Amino acid sequence: MDLRRKIHFLECDRCQRRFGPSESEGTCPDCGPTLGTLTVWYAYDEIARSFQRETLLARREPSLWRYLEILPVPERPALLHPRVGWTPMYDLPRLAQEIGVRRLWIKDDGVNPSGSFKDRASCIGVARALLQGKTTITAASTGNAASSLALFAACAGMRAVIFVPQTAPSAKVAQLLVFGAEVLAIRGTYDQAFDLCLAAAEKNGWYCRNTAINPFMSEGKKTAALEICEQLGFEPPDCVVVSVGDGCIIGGLWKGFQDFLRLGLIQRLPRLYGVQAAGCAPLLTAFQQGQDMAAPLLGGHTCADSICVGQPRDHLKALRAVRQSHGAMTAVEDEAILEAIRTLARKAGVFVEPAAATAFAGLKKLVEDGLIGNDERVAVMLTGNGLKDIATALRASGREPTVIDPDPSQVPA
Ligand SMILES: *Cc1c(COP(=O)(O)O)cnc(C)c1O
Ligand SMILES: [Zn+2]
Repeated sequence: MDLRRKIHFLECDRCQRRFGPSESEGTCPDCGPTLGTLTVWYAYDEIARSFQRETLLARREPSLWRYLEILPVPERPALLHPRVGWTPMYDLPRLAQEIGVRRLWIKDDGVNPSGSFKDRASCIGVARALLQGKTTITAASTGNAASSLALFAACAGMRAVIFVPQTAPSAKVAQLLVFGAEVLAIRGTYDQAFDLCLAAAEKNGWYCRNTAINPFMSEGKKTAALEICEQLGFEPPDCVVVSVGDGCIIGGLWKGFQDFLRLGLIQRLPRLYGVQAAGCAPLLTAFQQGQDMAAPLLGGHTCADSICVGQPRDHLKALRAVRQSHGAMTAVEDEAILEAIRTLARKAGVFVEPAAATAFAGLKKLVEDGLIGNDERVAVMLTGNGLKDIATALRASGREPTVIDPDPSQVPA
């Protein structure tokens, strides 16, 4: 469908000013880049006429492009080969019982082409950049958004200029370099890299994929919620638990559930729970204090590098998602994150990076705190692959190989 017909308007999350479908690729000029994030709304009534449960049930496409009717591009871009999305959901009855919930599913987004949830947003970002005729695309990232963008830029033959903190795990940097991106490793934090990237994009006219600045990233991220609905037979779980850094994923999930509700594809919405690392939890603080936005936090620290964000850029969408859905924010210590890496590996066979394990550790805490009840059906979003951060994985394992000679007598029985 033509973009002008399917996108109704873009709406400022703060002042509700509306923009036409091709009027903005950024934030609201009245509210500025830290408050004026935009939400994309579609022509739901018209779309619903030919986009129904049966339409989806008959559709074979095993990727997020199965939702083309509610994605902000006119057609599936030919150049972006890798299969993104339609990731597996595993039903885990034994772990459900151990944790104390009725049903537990984990959705493994670590199997995406670059190994993280960020692929959902990056492929949309590159598709939008191609629509605008841009040849250079840029992003600041704790690592995953960058490696993901580098992959899709490579597919599309675009130049990618990437800003990461110098401390990004080396596997993520290796991905960037192998995909051929130009990598600027900043002697500073992710938050500083973000501001540097924004200024460079503006000055050079590069297409900017940055979280929250680009209104279409949530549209890619929402597809995980659509998949959860479909994979559970259009009966959403009672709760969805996900880790939170900038807040784009949790905001995107909420948008996805709302889109399906508006289209009449589901009848009710789940509660959303956001989990931060205790060492860097500005959105938890804002939630507890009843604020609409997070005050920047300096010097946050956690092993979950992907969510080590002191100045969450999608605070409005994130806080709105947990409040409107009657969920909550919580936080877990690094020790609990390392334990969750072990549990997921040893009891579910899924190897996740620390930020993904954070969500699972959060679920345990939410059940202990009584925020999630024993009779509830819960989905946990696992956002990144364990191979992304080997140093922390080795630490989490709590084990070491036994070095022996090639001598049978040294092999234990
Ligand atoms: C980016 C990321 C998150 C957090 O997403 P936000 O949109 O920043 O809240 C969580 N886990 C992983 C693995 C990520 O890469
Ligand atoms: Zn505004």
